[in-house]
Amino acid sequence: MRDWVSNSAARFVRRRLTAIWLICMISMGPQSPLSSPSSCLELKCLIVYRGPNWIHGVSGNPIMSIAQATKSVALDPEGKMIMLSPEGHLIDEEIASKIREFVSESVAEAFQYSNQQKENISAKTSVLSFFQEKLDDTDFSDAEEQLCLELLQFEGAGIGESIERQSLKFFSLEEHPDQDDYFVASTYQRILEHIAEAAKSHADIRFKEAVVSVHAAERGGNQDHTHQVTVKTSTGTSYTFDELVITCPLGWLKQNPGVFHPPLPGPLLQSIHNVSYGRLEKIYVKFPQAFWHINPNNPDASSVIQEQPVFAQFLSPTYAEHPVDIVWSQECLSLASLPAPHAQPTLLFYTWGPCGTEIVNRIADLMPHSRAYNEVLLSFLRPFFSRLPGYNPGSPECTPSSILATKWQLDPYAGNGSYCNFQVGIEEADRDIKMLRSGDGIGQKRGIWFAGEHTAPFVGLGTTTGAYWSGERAGREICEWLGLSQVDSNELRDDSLPSARQ
Ligand SMILES: Cc1cc2nc3c(=O)[nH]c(=O)nc-3n(C[C@H](O)[C@H](O)[C@H](O)COP(=O)(O)OP(=O)(O)OC[C@H]3O[C@@H](n4cnc5c(N)ncnc54)[C@H](O)[C@@H]3O)c2cc1C
Repeated sequence: MRDWVSNSAARFVRRRLTAIWLICMISMGPQSPLSSPSSCLELKCLIVYRGPNWIHGVSGNPIMSIAQATKSVALDPEGKMIMLSPEGHLIDEEIASKIREFVSESVAEAFQYSNQQKENISAKTSVLSFFQEKLDDTDFSDAEEQLCLELLQFEGAGIGESIERQSLKFFSLEEHPDQDDYFVASTYQRILEHIAEAAKSHADIRFKEAVVSVHAAERGGNQDHTHQVTVKTSTGTSYTFDELVITCPLGWLKQNPGVFHPPLPGPLLQSIHNVSYGRLEKIYVKFPQAFWHINPNNPDASSVIQEQPVFAQFLSPTYAEHPVDIVWSQECLSLASLPAPHAQPTLLFYTWGPCGTEIVNRIADLMPHSRAYNEVLLSFLRPFFSRLPGYNPGSPECTPSSILATKWQLDPYAGNGSYCNFQVGIEEADRDIKMLRSGDGIGQKRGIWFAGEHTAPFVGLGTTTGAYWSGERAGREICEWLGLSQVDSNELRDDSLPSARQ
């Protein structure tokens, strides 16, 4: 089970659970053609998550509370952060810290500026321009300025798109509840099981059935008890419901407006069009041993280095072949730095935007773990992992034993991408998100309600937390509409942003 939204909302709606939840629950097992970023796959005897690993912002975060309640292991991975120059050399720690500090402070300032000056910022302005102006005010050398701009590219991993494309006007919609990011070392599995409990015990769940049409006429009035929504699936089966929650990804909504009869309201369709959908992908590469933890001067396996690198950033490399028009910066997290028993000699790479698309296209037709698949991914990754400390080209310990890459962009049920984002040109992203939530009143009028990460409170957009919150919100809205319970709306997460408090 994988669908974040439907599971969280299920806690609120017990009575007519089947009616409300069937569409949400029509989804996948791990090998199913219907998928979700939270599904897992096996990487040669190792369960890895194709979607989320992190809990973004821990204060007041319900996913963090569930992680604690389920004794999941979630932590801020400890260890050294290393940065490699475009020439492939380790950047001096002092310079790297200076650059990191500048970029991190500037991101915080950009959030604040975006939040407070939203009305005055042109929709055409990208976050990159803000940084360029900030850099003009520093006394950095040209080389340091260039490093700052290179480092800024890594913000793309959070957005799922190149930083050049990120709107400054709506940058604050990328904020999380706080700046702490915890990695779920024990995977999201127990968190998901916990969230799914209510749905599993109360809902009639249909896997591997894709919704292909939704017929929802206008209700005759508030007391119209004959009103029903009819859903047809890919098996040819039709189901009827009192109310329906659509948790399909934004990318899927963009491509499938024709599923709805009568059509969705125009303003809602416009908002679905306006908000962009990102391109984040992951690649796990497993080695016989975490060679980057071994002291290169004493390659005895017992001689581990003191300050083990946990995170490596490879600034746009001149040493790796790549299409000239694509930014090729990469970053990886060492899963060897996780606490036992979750540590594993694996590097987790993130790719995004055009680079993510390029890699996905290269492996599109290749069987995972086949020779050709491994070769394509190896030729992409080797220039990077071979720059890590401890690498020895002749050593079998430095030859990957398994590689696995996600291909969300090829998955129509993942909306051919990752999650929503806000690119230059969007004029009223905040209003668009509110429209995606409200469906322009289609819930009350026709019994179709929307949830999913793209309908989350602003601080939760694009995250599991936001998807969870959106499910709570949709569940409560339906309860209120049906008069099923008294709901304290103060309990719902609002749209306030941390940068507003600074
Ligand atoms: C590579 C990657 C890494 C990520 N990392 C993180 C992270 O570290 N932390 C974090 O908080 N978030 C992360 N995210 C984002 C997070 O995964 C999403 O925000 C979250 O999964 C959204 O949940 P959702 O329920 O809205 O949508 P989904 O999880 O996408 O679920 C939608 C469901 O709808 C189903 N569906 C689609 N079409 C149909 C149809 N026609 N009929 C029936 N069912 C259908 C799909 O199969 C899917 O199961 C990541 C995403 C990606 C892609």
